[in-house]
Amino acid sequence: MYKSTRGYEKLVSSSYAIINGLAEDKGLYVPFKIHKLKNSLEYLAGLPYEELAFCILKEFLDDFCDDDLRDCIYKAYDKKFEDNKILQIKSISNTHFLELYHGPTLAFKDVALCLFPYLLNKALINNKQKENILILTATSGDTGKAALEGFSDIPRIKIAVLYPKDGTSLIQKLQMITHRSNNSLVISLNGNFDDAQNCIKNILNDSKIKKEFNDNGFILSSANSINIGRLFPQIVYYFYAYGNLLNKNIIKHNEKINIVVPTGNFGNILSAYYAKKLGLPINKLICASNENNVLFDFINTGIYDRRRILKVTNSPSMDILISSNLERLLYDLSNEDSILIKNLMNSLEIQGFYEIPKSLKEKLNKIFYSDFATEKESINAINKVYKNFNYLMDPHTAVAYSVYEKYKEKTKDKTQTIIASTASPFKFPKTILQGLNVNTSNINDIEALNILSKKTTLPIPTSLKNLDKKPIIHNNICPKDKVLQAIENFAHIGGDLLD
Ligand SMILES: *Cc1c(COP(=O)(O)O)cnc(C)c1O
Repeated sequence: MYKSTRGYEKLVSSSYAIINGLAEDKGLYVPFKIHKLKNSLEYLAGLPYEELAFCILKEFLDDFCDDDLRDCIYKAYDKKFEDNKILQIKSISNTHFLELYHGPTLAFKDVALCLFPYLLNKALINNKQKENILILTATSGDTGKAALEGFSDIPRIKIAVLYPKDGTSLIQKLQMITHRSNNSLVISLNGNFDDAQNCIKNILNDSKIKKEFNDNGFILSSANSINIGRLFPQIVYYFYAYGNLLNKNIIKHNEKINIVVPTGNFGNILSAYYAKKLGLPINKLICASNENNVLFDFINTGIYDRRRILKVTNSPSMDILISSNLERLLYDLSNEDSILIKNLMNSLEIQGFYEIPKSLKEKLNKIFYSDFATEKESINAINKVYKNFNYLMDPHTAVAYSVYEKYKEKTKDKTQTIIASTASPFKFPKTILQGLNVNTSNINDIEALNILSKKTTLPIPTSLKNLDKKPIIHNNICPKDKVLQAIENFAHIGGDLLD
């Protein structure tokens, strides 16, 4: 069963939590309890990815029958992934890059968003729901296309994606506005990512709006990582990576590892924390921020302060000031003190900041370490790693790598370490070229793709080829106060419904 972090809601089933996304009391759904896995790490290390996913998801989706769950997993993880491999691991001495970007949109979000729509579709059936679903998603660049792709023509589900007009890379934007499917709407918002996320949260938290959509046959929900169903598939790859290191004898039975995660909304690193609760031996979880270093400040001072200007950086998927999933971590670390959580989150919303009690901060620092990297530092890291190891990192992974280098320098820790490698370098070709000392002042992303491919002799990923020649399907630009109307029109509220 699932409960809300803010403590005002009854227990609900996993299907209900997945369908509804956010709890009524505005909290986030969390599992009632997370138990250690019964299977040994050695056993898990021997499983193919799909069966490992089954073992782990089974823990959380207790109202899904085994056949249904397997069906979802096998449909999600098929030829959509390069070489039929969900992920790849590349090692440079004690550092292991967990490449999570070999899916259809070249970002780690594919791993969850290829599976999530199937889970949602089954959840509708489990819950005997008559309504259809309208998914609302805010994106800082990668979620949008991954969600559009994952939900493409899935029965009974429509999807609307909201992205900040100037907040994504050209390639990310083209990926979204050229997306063709029968059930999608893409809106460009006059605002930044936090505005987009707030816009969606405000709609999802408004009982009047929700009722209006309900009366017209739609349940509103979210595919952002505020939906607990997004997080479970991400736990799987940390176990898989651990098993891979075990199988290669890089680590011994029960040896602890570090995991470094380039962090934005705190979903990916929270999944690693849940993996730890399930029994994965983790020494430190290293939270890497870019110059929007709210999380770095928070983990080091105990004060979360969003009162600052959001900077658009070369790692745009981390340009976030409000990391929603932190709420789930604080709930867990505070022994589920929902009154504290409610007060903290109210203070964040109204005053723009909060400070956690000292005892809570101590617990946080036992597990989490955080630092940040500037744009320049991440470009230097791209340069250094390519020069020394002939390995190409994307700007987000480069932030993680820089932070990890600083961590090693400071702590002299020699623990085997996994770096979550979250996007293909080809998604951010201009930044990568800057890392390779190529002047990019007069070229755009598309030209940069070709130059990057020539220079490194790596092929351009198929899904990015001819991106600039595809017809533009979506060209809506909205101010904040017109978003709801655009979504209503898309769902035909007031008009004829449910085609
Ligand atoms: C979304 C994203 C992140 C941040 O992940 P969170 O789960 O939001 O913390 C990092 N890198 C890339 C490439 C992303 O797309």
